[in-house]
Amino acid sequence: MNTVYLDNNATTKVADKVLDEMLPYFSDFYGNPSSMHAFGGNVGKKLVEAREKTAALIGAIPEEIIFTSCGTESDSTAIRAAVQSNPEKKHIITSRVEHPAVKNLCEHYAKNGYRVTVVPVDSMGNLDLEYLRQHLTDDTAIVSIMWANNESGVIFPIHEISKMVKERGIVFHTDAVQAVGKIPMNIQDAGIDMLSLSGHKIHAPKGIGALYVKKGTKFFPYMIGGHQENGRRGGTENVPSIIGLGKACELAAEHLEEINTRVKELRDTLENELLNRIPNAAINGNKDARLPNTTSVGFEYVEGEAILLMLDQFGICASSGSACTSGSLEPSHVLRAMGVPFTSAHGSIRFSLSTYTSSEEINSVIDNMPPIIEKLRELSPFWKKKKAAG
Ligand code: PLP
Repeated sequence: MNTVYLDNNATTKVADKVLDEMLPYFSDFYGNPSSMHAFGGNVGKKLVEAREKTAALIGAIPEEIIFTSCGTESDSTAIRAAVQSNPEKKHIITSRVEHPAVKNLCEHYAKNGYRVTVVPVDSMGNLDLEYLRQHLTDDTAIVSIMWANNESGVIFPIHEISKMVKERGIVFHTDAVQAVGKIPMNIQDAGIDMLSLSGHKIHAPKGIGALYVKKGTKFFPYMIGGHQENGRRGGTENVPSIIGLGKACELAAEHLEEINTRVKELRDTLENELLNRIPNAAINGNKDARLPNTTSVGFEYVEGEAILLMLDQFGICASSGSACTSGSLEPSHVLRAMGVPFTSAHGSIRFSLSTYTSSEEINSVIDNMPPIIEKLRELSPFWKKKKAAG
């Protein structure tokens, strides 16, 4: 049975070209990039190249990129750096739909003497900008708002947000882990101070990320140690993965158009066909301002986990809520924040595509989903009651 992989917001396949670029740096070229000898120095040159490619994808300059171990470390580093740079400020602003990497760190600060404002979203997943504006204060150390949501795919108006935050002279960080490589980005125009990205969402390996820190931004390292990363993150570099990230960023730039045309069309076909063929189904989130590869569809009167298990029998991989929250039968905090009714939040499935997704794979989901939902609804007393009531 072929695997139909539609869970690319959870993680992606490492691209062959990425792997090819990485492999020699495990075996043949294993020198330490900090060494004085040429054997290590040549590895160092390759890191320079990777930094240039990573910076180019988001329109940054190479010196503004710090390699980290993942998106979570980038988020933690950014928020901790801002808090530490502004010790007199005891207020943090974030949103209700952040990934746990930001959400749980802000909750940690809330338990440790900080006031945390959590900006709500509406039923379409759009951020309440007025609420944000009203809560910016002279005591605010950082505003951390994601660029695009991992579950709904909803894109926040990040330029507008950063303008509002920077007018008040506050540090602005964005978790762009899901946005990078899927929408065009020019960080110079955006006025953002710090931005997080993660390799495994863009066909690089797991365990590599980067943090953009705008030149001139006050910064404190999270990992204190050697002089690596210009003293901003101690620890011998994960050389093969950094090289892989650089290559993945180069490929992401090349594939940006395809994601926003062919992949987006496949996503639209998938959701239109599912809505046409399955009654009592709805898209979660703003259909217009959305990542081109993501759809979250709520199917009323069924359990998302049951749908996933049945899809799995056909080799179809998707997700209910985010990968990090599945395992719990509670609807995700993102769907709850959007006020998605319980009946459909429980039966919400996220399909996330990539440039590897084919129309045959999409057709397989379109063919398999209607009978799966019908079968599961036959087992639901609530569905039967609803049908009986007409
Ligand atoms: N932020 C967002 C929006 C994410 O989707 C994820 C991963 O799913 C992360 C942060 C964490 O990234 P990583 O898995 O690289 O730590």
